[in-house]
Amino acid sequence: MLPALSLHMLRLSAARDGHALARAYLDAARELLDGDETMLLEVYMPLDAVSGTRTLRPGETIVRRFDGQAGAAGARRPVDLHGVHASIAQRRALELAADDARPARLLLPIAGEGNPCRVLAIDNPAGTPEARVALLQLSEIFANQSALIDQRERDALTGLLNRQALTQRYMQMLGTPAASPCGGAQQLWLAVLDLDHFKRINDRHGHLIGDEVLLHMARLMESTFRYTDALFRFGGEEFVILMHGDAAAAAQVFERFRRIVAGHAFPRAGNVTVSIGYTGVAADMPPPVALDIADRALYAAKGGGRDRVVRGRGTGGPRRVGEVEMF
Ligand code: GH3
Ligand code: MG
Ligand code: MG
Repeated sequence: MLPALSLHMLRLSAARDGHALARAYLDAARELLDGDETMLLEVYMPLDAVSGTRTLRPGETIVRRFDGQAGAAGARRPVDLHGVHASIAQRRALELAADDARPARLLLPIAGEGNPCRVLAIDNPAGTPEARVALLQLSEIFANQSALIDQRERDALTGLLNRQALTQRYMQMLGTPAASPCGGAQQLWLAVLDLDHFKRINDRHGHLIGDEVLLHMARLMESTFRYTDALFRFGGEEFVILMHGDAAAAAQVFERFRRIVAGHAFPRAGNVTVSIGYTGVAADMPPPVALDIADRALYAAKGGGRDRVVRGRGTGGPRRVGEVEMF
């Protein structure tokens, strides 16, 4: 057995959360096959609200790139999905030859029951045949560990992180401030999103259509926010977002999301709006305090007529987006 393999096995089995696990797997893949680019992709497929089964339709899947590193708060890097859907559909490793436009690519789909399905993509993989076998073995461990950890830290309906996973990700993100691409002050932001008049949607269309709206909301979040942002289903129709950025970016991103939801035609339910309360997270702020401030801002957004974004402050009352303030 390669000495590197046992070390990577240890790291994978020692990981206690999905983030650390994915990080360990990505590190192992980079070390063993040393490709030009190694990406771990999370693929979210439409889920039938009744049967719970996933369908793979490339146009309707959302792909998020996992990147456990801080400092990726800059522009979203384009992700080349060449072969990704095919490897999931065929449930096996695919090796694509280089052509004029693309490098050679190795794709390893990681089997899983719920969302997300994961695919490791390595461009121009190097490494010995033994290293490939080692990576395949590690992928098995990664698949098993991911299934266990997903059960614990992801919401079954949407595949987003759940409430239990929040504290850990919050502390991780607070401890690794993102590098600023343009010199602006980067900090952590926490937002609480709540669907407006969701009870009416349930009452009018039934609980299943309500669930479908929740699924659509989750997909809209996944396609709107960066892969470095952490997305949670916090409770029934309440969601939480953690992101790094400066104050202007946070205001802009949350307002843009509100607009995207308001402009989205939800199948059957039609028009749905969301209210958002958010706050900057100070270095020593415990999660319940940040949640409380964002929650009070959300309450103000509801009181102000819904379908709006309000920034909360640590002391005093909330203010509408656009007003200048420290957190
Ligand atoms: P507001 O704009 O003030 O937020 O009004 P609201 O109706 O959204 O808020 P309220 O808290 O009164 O109702 C939330 C509803 O969300 C009640 C419950 O039936 C529904 N709900 C909670 N969890 C789920 C779920 O998992 N699926 C579905 N379909 N509905 C849910
Ligand atoms: Mg609510
Ligand atoms: Mg609501």
